[in-house]
Amino acid sequence: MQTTMFYDIMPDGTVKQLNPFTGTEVWAVPGRKSKPITNEIPVTAKRVEPHNPEDYCSFCPPRYVETPPEKSRLIKLHDRWERIDTLAPDKYFETTAEFRRVGNMFEIVTLDYWRKNYAFKMTAARQKWREDYLANPSGLKHITEIIHYKLRQEGKSDEQIEKIPLAEKFGIADAFFGGGHELVIAKRHYREGAEFDTEMFSSGEMTVEEHFHYFKLTIDALMDIAFSNRYVRYISVFQNWLRPAGASFDHLHKQIVALDEWGASIENQIKMLREDPNVFNQFGANFAAHHNLIFAENDYAIALAGIGHRYPTIEIYSRAQTGRPYEHTDEEIRGVSDLVHATHAAMGSQISCNEEWYYTPIDAVYKMPWHVMIKWRVNVPAGFEGGTSIFINPMTPIELRDKLVPRLYKLRDERRVAWLRIAEECRVDPNPLKYYLK
Ligand SMILES: [Zn+2]
Repeated sequence: MQTTMFYDIMPDGTVKQLNPFTGTEVWAVPGRKSKPITNEIPVTAKRVEPHNPEDYCSFCPPRYVETPPEKSRLIKLHDRWERIDTLAPDKYFETTAEFRRVGNMFEIVTLDYWRKNYAFKMTAARQKWREDYLANPSGLKHITEIIHYKLRQEGKSDEQIEKIPLAEKFGIADAFFGGGHELVIAKRHYREGAEFDTEMFSSGEMTVEEHFHYFKLTIDALMDIAFSNRYVRYISVFQNWLRPAGASFDHLHKQIVALDEWGASIENQIKMLREDPNVFNQFGANFAAHHNLIFAENDYAIALAGIGHRYPTIEIYSRAQTGRPYEHTDEEIRGVSDLVHATHAAMGSQISCNEEWYYTPIDAVYKMPWHVMIKWRVNVPAGFEGGTSIFINPMTPIELRDKLVPRLYKLRDERRVAWLRIAEECRVDPNPLKYYLK
């Protein structure tokens, strides 16, 4: 393994990196504006007026009708979690959703895209749900209002909206029922007892159990989308946390987008897998182990500081033999969820980040392990990057690891994260990822 090609620590401390999977060239200069992680309230924070229940945005519980119809919700009955699918619109407020799954009002890949390019038809079950929904007076009201809201957001005047024929208007609603761009929304807006607007409810604020169910509902959605549209080849899953990471809502949510291609990056990684089925161990887990970049693990997953990313990036890999999240057992999902949760908890709620999922595409015959990347959006690539294609990352992988480790020990002591092995406790046996096994 020519490791210096990918990861070269120079005598002055500069770390030159080349991402083995994407070819991205990155330099990190240590000690550059590197502050420890803090959850202290910044001086610029504004006080929030406590509202009970929270009603700060369209994703807050009293405002269920400001999102498209609900495909699923998770409720908690004492210690038991229950999933309710396609709840009738007049029953929205009979229970409180811990998590909700709804269509995205503004799709990236639209229902029309699938219809016009593939002659896609909604499944009979979705079609029936749509009919039942519109036959319900609360449902008809909800849909009418939400279509008007969408049209107004798109810049149409009330007068123009008035002139659109009813059939056309309800055609817009089809996407709410049969589209492939969805959201999974958490219940809380701010964290419990928040006094300032910086105290948002992040993934790390959840309990271990809540985070597992958040993952599980997302995976249920993934599977449902895959089985409802046979033209789908990959489904992108991501979470943009806070505005600098591209979030249009501060309220915590994940997005799920069905695609008819894998995208260049995954395409390339599948090619690498064809040549070396063990490539994710070789250049992922084993490589990180050799350079002491693995900072946490449990029996089902490992977490490491990634190399060759334009933003400080944590990578969490499933050790499972299967390559898609929905093929994982609950225990295996929990293992990945626990490390993702612990990472979010350790970084705190004030660092803007993208959480991105990668896994074996639906129609791939070469297995890639399910892994989750958490990218800290703490720097803005500028002119230097544009001109040279060399990205400056404000933190070395070692610095990133060392910021997280003390926080993880503390969180484990306080039992705020699931049990995990930290830093030197990690066993890091060779080839810890088992996806390559048949
Ligand atoms: Zn909210």
